[in-house]
Amino acid sequence: MRFLAAAMLVVIGAFLAADDQASYDLLITNAHIVDGTGQPARDGDIAIRAGRIVALGRIAGGSADQRIDATGLTVSPGFIDSHTHADDIANRPGAEVFVASGITTIVAGTDGVSSADIGSELDDIRRAGLSVNFATFVGHSTVRASVIGRVLRDPLLADLNRMNAMVFEGIADGAIGLSTGLQSPPGRFARNSEIAALARVVSLARGLYAAQIRTADFTVDQSVAESIRLAESLAIPVQLSGLMLDPLKPATTTAVLKLIDDARRRNTDVWVEQDVFPASGAADNPESDRLLLHPLVVIASDPMRVLADVVVGRHLMSMEEAIRKMTSLPAARLGFAGRGVLKDNAAADLAIFDAGRLAQSPSARDVIVNGVVVVRNGQHTGARPGRVLRRTSGL
Ligand SMILES: [Zn+2]
Repeated sequence: MRFLAAAMLVVIGAFLAADDQASYDLLITNAHIVDGTGQPARDGDIAIRAGRIVALGRIAGGSADQRIDATGLTVSPGFIDSHTHADDIANRPGAEVFVASGITTIVAGTDGVSSADIGSELDDIRRAGLSVNFATFVGHSTVRASVIGRVLRDPLLADLNRMNAMVFEGIADGAIGLSTGLQSPPGRFARNSEIAALARVVSLARGLYAAQIRTADFTVDQSVAESIRLAESLAIPVQLSGLMLDPLKPATTTAVLKLIDDARRRNTDVWVEQDVFPASGAADNPESDRLLLHPLVVIASDPMRVLADVVVGRHLMSMEEAIRKMTSLPAARLGFAGRGVLKDNAAADLAIFDAGRLAQSPSARDVIVNGVVVVRNGQHTGARPGRVLRRTSGL
């Protein structure tokens, strides 16, 4: 018994010693931590080793190669920009505009437009090495244009077979799914039966379906219902984008929200991706704001400007919720396992910013990607630790 007690003491002593002698690559101290889950912020430190978060909370002792004092600053997961057209990012691998906003992962190939050869695109990106993580969809409009041109006709059976093969190959080569752009040609030329055929391939390849819903030919709620119906029939996850809500038709917003809630209740993996600052410049749309508040709506816009506007400026939602909508929510839905959240063993993608000065200076002070500092005191370090992210199912 005495021997056992002595052994226990040795074990406990070993734990304390290990903690004291712990060595980290990076230690962020005195941070106001918003962890991405939507839980209330708390204060503490974050330790990073080998690209991962290894401790979080009050960290006493230990040595670190690099330290960042985050006193007075907010630390959140790095932001995921789930809607970019940065298909040519290999040409500007520093991704300066993205990292300046605290973005650590970008998604390209949206609205039906992508590289026509996903495999070689991702090879180029791996070779170039980016400062951000990268994922892409294979775009329906691109696939359609490469097979039948930018013409108004239905694909023949042989065309459709080639299109199916391109989509399957794109996902097999690393795309996270298929995106459509049904609001403009050539994507708009496609009948629902064509989209349904390609969505079947998405299901076989275990990808997700990012539907830019039709607005020119249908009303918003009809398009949403159609996309949900298709996803449900194939049991594939569906992301809805491009929802343009009429500020004078609140009943349409109510119908759209009900379609989403009902589908969710039937266990359909459906969510919406919404831009707070649409290119159309439409502002002050209370129906858009109503949609934005729904828990399954991912915010896809410049994160620092979003926080300045939605949280600080208009008090539409809490800082924690706005950050969740740009970190853990898109990570979970898009299938980026172990990202978008600050917790033990998560990938160390982080943004550090001054929440009190977002209105004057909507940019991140420091940005960390896979444990490597890519922005320090507002300056790009030149580091390019980004990775190509594939979809990991089973979240
Ligand atoms: Zn777009």
